[in-house]
Parts: sequence; C-alpha cells; structure tokens
Amino acid sequence: MSHKIQTLSGYFHEYQKSVLEPEAFWSRIAESFHWRKKWTKTLEWDFEGPNVKWFVNGKLNLTENIFERHLYTKGETPAIIWEPNNPDEPNRTLTYSELYRLTNQFCNALKAQGIGKGDRVIIYMPMVPEAAIAMLACARVGAIHSVVFAGFSASSLADRINDCQAKMVLTSDGNFRGQKQIEVKAVVDEALTKCTSVQKVIVLQRTHQPVNMVTNRDLWWHNAIDGQPYEFEAEEMDAEDMLFILYTSGSTGKPKGVVHTTGGYMVYSYYSFLNVFQYSQGDIYWCTADVGWITGHSYIVYGPLLAGATTLMFEGVPTHPHPGRFWEIVDKYKVNQFYTAPTAIRALQAYGLEPVEPYSLSSLKVIGSVGEPINEEAWHWYHDHIGKGNCPLVDTWWQTETGGIMISALAGITPNKPAHASLPLPGVQPVIVDAEGNELTGNNVEGNLCIKFPWPSMLRTTYGDHEKCKNVYFSTYKGMYFTGDGAKRDHDGYLRILGRVDDVINVSGHRMGTAEVENAINEHPKVVESAVVGFPHEVKGQGIYAFVICDMTGRTEESLKEEIKETVRKIIGPIAKPDIVQIVPGLPKTRSGKIMRRILRKVASKDLSNLGDTSTLLNPEVVDDIIKGAGL
Ligand code: ATP
Ligand code: MG
Repeated sequence: MSHKIQTLSGYFHEYQKSVLEPEAFWSRIAESFHWRKKWTKTLEWDFEGPNVKWFVNGKLNLTENIFERHLYTKGETPAIIWEPNNPDEPNRTLTYSELYRLTNQFCNALKAQGIGKGDRVIIYMPMVPEAAIAMLACARVGAIHSVVFAGFSASSLADRINDCQAKMVLTSDGNFRGQKQIEVKAVVDEALTKCTSVQKVIVLQRTHQPVNMVTNRDLWWHNAIDGQPYEFEAEEMDAEDMLFILYTSGSTGKPKGVVHTTGGYMVYSYYSFLNVFQYSQGDIYWCTADVGWITGHSYIVYGPLLAGATTLMFEGVPTHPHPGRFWEIVDKYKVNQFYTAPTAIRALQAYGLEPVEPYSLSSLKVIGSVGEPINEEAWHWYHDHIGKGNCPLVDTWWQTETGGIMISALAGITPNKPAHASLPLPGVQPVIVDAEGNELTGNNVEGNLCIKFPWPSMLRTTYGDHEKCKNVYFSTYKGMYFTGDGAKRDHDGYLRILGRVDDVINVSGHRMGTAEVENAINEHPKVVESAVVGFPHEVKGQGIYAFVICDMTGRTEESLKEEIKETVRKIIGPIAKPDIVQIVPGLPKTRSGKIMRRILRKVASKDLSNLGDTSTLLNPEVVDDIIKGAGL
C-alpha cells in the first residue's frame, strides 16, 4: 500500500509533487497496475478541443487489475457483501475468486448474445451483486456500460437508450425497495416501444413477479449463464477506450452522457478511494449510494475492488423496516468506513436519536458525505451521533464528470472543518475565478470553481456530442474546466463549496450562496429541511425565497415564519433575511436525493410557463402542493 498517504506533511509533499511533475506522479501510481503494454506517453492534453489522453497507447483490461492481480493473495477475501432489502432474507458474500468466476461466466453469456467490444449495454437493475457482475463483465468483454438508476421512468430510460444506441438491456423482473415491490421489466418493455437499437434483454429473477417475455428478444439471466464456462480471457483495451457512459443526475436540466475511459479512471478511482477513506486491508467499507450514480460506480464497485477491499452493497432504503436500519447494518457487519449523502442524514436526523441508540457503531473509523453541501447542523449530528465525535468526517466534493473525489479531507489526516470539503486531492488543481475568469489567488476569496489541469479520471466527452462537452465545461472560462459550482477559500486556505453557481443569489449587490442561507434556516429547531432560491425583486435586484419543511407542533404558520426570518437575521445578518418563507410538505428532489432548485426558482418568480424536464423527479406530486401553497 505504498500509495497511501500517512500524514499531513506527507499529503503536502505528495501534493507538491503532483503539481510540479504531474506526469511522473501519475506514472508512478499507474505502474503498480498490470498493463498488457505500457503507455508511451503519460499525458497529452489541451482544454480547447477539449482533448485529454492519459497513458497514451497503454493496453490493459481494467478487470485484470481487480481479479488476476488480486487472486493469488485475496482469492478468499470477501469482495462484495450483500445485504438484502428484507433483513430476514439470507445475505450473500462473494469472495474475489467467486466474483471472478461469476463475472467470467456472465462474460461468456454476453458474448453468446452478440455483445463485444464497443457495444453499449444498458444496466437497469436493483442493488444486487449481479448489477456489479454486469458492470464488470461489460468491462471485461470491452462493452461500454451505461447504468440507469432503476427508479427512472420509461421515458427517461428510453431517452438514455436512444442517446447511446444501446444494443442490450440488462434488467430484473422487479425490485424490492422498502415495503414496495417495483416493476422493473414492465418499465423496460414500455421504454423499448420507443427504441429500435436494442436486440436483447437479459432479465434477472429477483422478485419472481410475473413479467412479459418477448420471444427472440428477452431471456432469463439464469438461462443465459446456464452451461457457460467460468473462464474468460479479458479483451485487450486501449487506455483511452470508453469504459462507461453515465448520464448526470439531471438537477440542472437535460442529462448529459458523460464518458469515462479505461486507464485514467482505473488509476484515479483506486487512488482516491484508498486515500480519502484510508482503507486498510481487512476493513469493511460501505457506501450507501446506488450503482446508478457515479458514487456507486467509483466507490461501490471500481475503486474498492481495484484496491482489493471488501465493499458492502445494500439493496434497501434507510428507513425499512425501521429508521435504524443503517445503524443496524453497521453493527451487523462491523462496518469501518461509512459513506452516505446529506439527504439521507437529514432524513434520519428527523427521527431523533431513538433509532440510533440501540447500536454501538463502535466499528466505525471513518464517515463520509457526498452529493450536496452538507449543512452544519447535519454535519454535527452525523459527526456527534454516528461518528461518536471520534471519526473523521470526509466531506467529498466531486461530480459525475470528475469520475472521482476531487476535494476532500483525507480521513484522519486533514483536520476536520464542518461543511468544508477542505483540500484538493493530489493531482487536482482547483482555482477560484471571478466572472471574467481571472484567477483569485490567496485566501478569503470566493467565486466560480474551475480546474486548470487535467486529472486522470476526468470526462473525455459527452457521448455523441463533443461540442456539448466543449460548450458546457470548457467554454465559460478559457483553458479551464468549469465545474458549475461556486466555492470559497477561507482564511485557512480550506475550500468550501457554496452550491451551484446558478444558485448564488445577489441581494442588493451582496452575493450569497443558497447553502449559507439554508444553513442558517436549519438552525431553527423546528426546521426539518429548507431550500432557498432567488427571485426578481424591484429594489434589491434579487430577493430571497425560502421553502421550508417544518415540524408545526406548538406553532402557528405565521409565528414560525417570523421566527425563521429572525433566525437568519441573527446568524448571517439583515441582508440575508428571507423576503418570503413558504412552509411546504416536501421539496422536489431528484432520484439521487438532491433538491431541484430550478423548479423552486420558477415558483418563486411566479413563472410556471416552462418547468423544464421533471422526468428525473422522485416526488413530482409535491410540485403541485408547492404551487398551490404559493398561491399560484
Ligand atoms: P446535473 O449535472 O445533471 O445537473 P448533478 O450535478 O446533480 O446533475 P452529479 O454529478 O451527481 O449530478 O452531482 C455533482 C454536483 O453535486 C456537484 O457539482 C455539486 O453541485 C454537488 N456536490 C457533490 N458533492 C458535494 C459536496 N461534498 N459538497 C457540495 N456539493 C457537492
Ligand atoms: Mg452537474
């Protein structure tokens, strides 16, 4: 484990090296992998094209670096531990050698059904080990997978299938989620009425609910693998061959097909996993994301397995059959590293401490957060009651496009600072720029977050539309990758993510991050969750509109609204006091649990003409309630 940073000075030392000699730095890490043929040039790049190539002409198969590389030493080590939705159903553990055999077997099944190098395969599956097997088998035969979260609607699924012209869909009959049994195959059937590229559908039997099987198109997973051998010679890939396409979660608009390639993604997902979570051999690591998100790709499947880790996969939801389920699982498997999203923390926090108390949580060494800025209240709750005040909390900032964690503390190494993502990982060169793209150097500055140098796991293009990639990410500021997020470098040089730039509010010339105002609102004891947006204001330019979920017991709506305004005034100042507070039953969320502020902005500005794409919403019904509540 020579790539694991051990101390803060070690981090600064590695960081220096990675900036002064990035090619030598990444070469050294890449050399520890198995390559069929070594690269001839470490990096080739320009951000105009953009054109970025890492490990040029290198040949490899990523899965050989999970299996062949680890089998001698880790054959009997658990690779995946699977906890089912229903705690009474038997769990499963797959060792590295079992996972290897099942992956090979499925490779042979894919080949038999006509899948080969370069074909696109959609994975629309529940959180079961077969989802990981499907991803790994695609990578091993050289097919490009695109995982679509199995809660998306038929039309969202069809859009993605058509965008990448997938040849195959891997799915299941149904899906257990909490108390619900969700139709999965039926959604695929509906989607496929709008798609012509798909030739075969392989269906895993999970719920045993009745489904319609289309002759010559659909076959059962168990039949597809029946009699297939457990050996498969991995396809040789170029370092820059596509590994996967992943459509972004769609918080801001139409999803984009982000493309990641083989060599750089492999090196970076491994390196970032090892260092951020400080994984040690024998640890049990658990990330609660779904494999349909980038977090599931990099930190349930690829990063941990490349590091020879044991990764836990959970099929269910945090509140089923009771709101202590997460903590029960932590104790059951003695989880050492636990990685989740602020939306889950806030949801569980709302149940109070009672569901936490029965569990010791003493195995935890590291806790992590990803997906949104974590508000200070949730940070402290998570840190104090789950981490028991002695686990480092890594607030990891990154994106589908970045492929891996970019800005984060390294657990136990970088000092913790609530709600600060803190410092960049080695090899990551973030800059804060003003509206004109001038780099703001020094501390105590705030602006738009860009990255000025390539890192191995960055997106290479958006599938089928390179212009889009250029326009969205590389045109706003010349020569830089623009993240779309705002950030602040504080007086200690620590980075704090302020939220999306589109969400920054400008009140009478004062720029404010929505996250900052929400933090203040959430300090009020009756507030469960809040979302703040700007709206056009005659005098101030923009006013502040707060949508707040509250516990109303013992309060009237009017008194609560005043108290909330007063809380913000006290914490930030009169300038941040919301002009309007609306108490709402829920907030519109994407299926990855992020608030869709775009819709709230429309409501706040009383403009319902074009609400945009809401197909990725988890709870579309709440939009009507909010519109009604706003008196529109
Ligand atoms: P779309 O790009 O389609 O609008 P999305 O941005 O929500 O969707 P993701 O790539 O899953 O899709 O999310 C990345 C974004 O999530 C980041 O740009 C940032 O706004 C937010 N984010 C992720 N982690 C953090 C974090 N630790 N702190 C603050 N914000 C975060
Ligand atoms: Mg995004």
